[in-house]
Amino acid sequence: MLSESTEMASTSVLFEWPPTLSNAQIHELTLLATSYAFSNGLLYLPPAERQPPIPESAIHAPLALFPSPFPRSLFEHAQRLQHIYNVLYARIAQDEEFLDRIMGTENGVGKVDDFIGQLWTGWKQLRDEGLVQPLHLGLFRSDYLLHTPPGQSPTLKQVEFNTISVSFGSLSERTAGLHRYLQASTQYYNTSPHLRLENFPENDTIAGLAEGLAAAHKAYGDEKSWILFVVQPDERNVFDQRPLEYKLLEKHSIHVIRQTFDELGHSATLDPDTRVLRVSCSPDLHPNGFLEISTVYFRAGYAPIEYQTSCQYQTRFLLERSRAINCPTIALQLAGGKKVQEVLTQPGVLEYFLSNEKKWGNPMFDKQELQELRQSFMKMWGLDVGKDLLTPDYDALESGKEGFGVAKARELALSLVLKPQREGGGNNVYKDSIPPFLDTLPPEERQAWIAMELIVPANGTGNYLIRAGGANEAAVKVVVVSELGIFGWALFGDKGADIREKEAGWLVRTKGKGSDEGGVATGFSVLDSVLLV
Ligand code: ADP
Ligand code: MG
Ligand code: MG
Repeated sequence: MLSESTEMASTSVLFEWPPTLSNAQIHELTLLATSYAFSNGLLYLPPAERQPPIPESAIHAPLALFPSPFPRSLFEHAQRLQHIYNVLYARIAQDEEFLDRIMGTENGVGKVDDFIGQLWTGWKQLRDEGLVQPLHLGLFRSDYLLHTPPGQSPTLKQVEFNTISVSFGSLSERTAGLHRYLQASTQYYNTSPHLRLENFPENDTIAGLAEGLAAAHKAYGDEKSWILFVVQPDERNVFDQRPLEYKLLEKHSIHVIRQTFDELGHSATLDPDTRVLRVSCSPDLHPNGFLEISTVYFRAGYAPIEYQTSCQYQTRFLLERSRAINCPTIALQLAGGKKVQEVLTQPGVLEYFLSNEKKWGNPMFDKQELQELRQSFMKMWGLDVGKDLLTPDYDALESGKEGFGVAKARELALSLVLKPQREGGGNNVYKDSIPPFLDTLPPEERQAWIAMELIVPANGTGNYLIRAGGANEAAVKVVVVSELGIFGWALFGDKGADIREKEAGWLVRTKGKGSDEGGVATGFSVLDSVLLV
């Protein structure tokens, strides 16, 4: 029996949220919020088929008016876990044998997923030829939802771990600033005793991520070199990317050049002897007509559509063949696959990566830390597996029969999400869409998909959401679910040297409860911040 006090604690939000506002107050806060957004670069470029070469206008990012309540202990727990996750993914990226087995083309995901197969094959060729840069830089974001089945206390559960092109570092810092400002200027009309500044945690993501990039630049060891941002053509999220450039210049005196894959196809070359990466530029930028690159930071390159021809793959491989430090390397990108996330839930895998001193040296993690990490996992399995939910059911795969992994996904469909090896939102299959999807999935493609138990959000919190271009820009009150992301970075790969890593701030994205997906760029979510309770 639960005592009365634990029962009280078991409901995650013990007070009404958001506080009730009058229409006049909503109007006033909306005006203050959107004005703050325009004044502080909490912005997107407007939707357009082709972005003009020089932007002429912007729209504010989709926003929540109030910060969302989040238990202080779980927030701090997520920040602590980030250090273990940073080390874990650094080790996965350095374990070629593991990545070959899980993501390679012989028996891994690369065999059935063309995109993963292309990346892995290119990486294997580069390894056979001999890589000259041992260092990897990862800028990571580990995403969580609060799991609150009826009658239980909330626990922190990981949605996914991102290793490439993680976004919203800058815009989340601005959104935290927005909510602090609304509190400082209006006290939110004294509508809640929780809205006190000490409950609004610091969020220095821009400085944190720039520090990671600067650490790589410094490790490269040529002060005059530049950092290359590889960006997508027609990128709308530039106001999330630019502040990192400004911070690098202002705080670290490092210059940045932005180029797309197609531009790099013409401009990037390697010195045949040293493999120094050079990007040609106008003599106004540098009298030599080229820039030496210390660090390649990808805000592109995570989706198959970006590699329309072999040219884009060749450019990616050229960057990785160079002496520049890649953020991420192909190994780190592969480590971020959903399949790896599933394999980490299997018995012994965390022990292998985190408490095997002979193989990895320090830091080592104890039983309790491993247990805490494991408790952040939901149950997962591959669709290709047999009865043990671990090893592939080769009979079923060869005969085209259903197999246990698929049968289990049908049986539990309403409490599951299926995920392929993709990033950027909009790729998953949820609940009652799962059985018809399984009817059409060719048996050989099962290996590219994982099944994951759905995290069950608490009932009851809401927020006022503002999107640009809505009717009169009025905020709408909806029931919501908030996803917390913790940023971190790791610089590693030098034999015998320690992994350098840090936690680097946080993000909250909030979506209407009816939507399965998240994602701000894809239009499902708005930017938000945490209110610690
Ligand atoms: P992507 O790499 O495309 O962002 P995610 O794994 O983050 O893929 O899934 C996209 C969204 O789907 C998440 O932001 C979250 O809203 C929802 N989602 C993913 N996994 C789960 C889960 N296990 N339970 C509940 N929602 C989930
Ligand atoms: Mg995600
Ligand atoms: Mg992702």
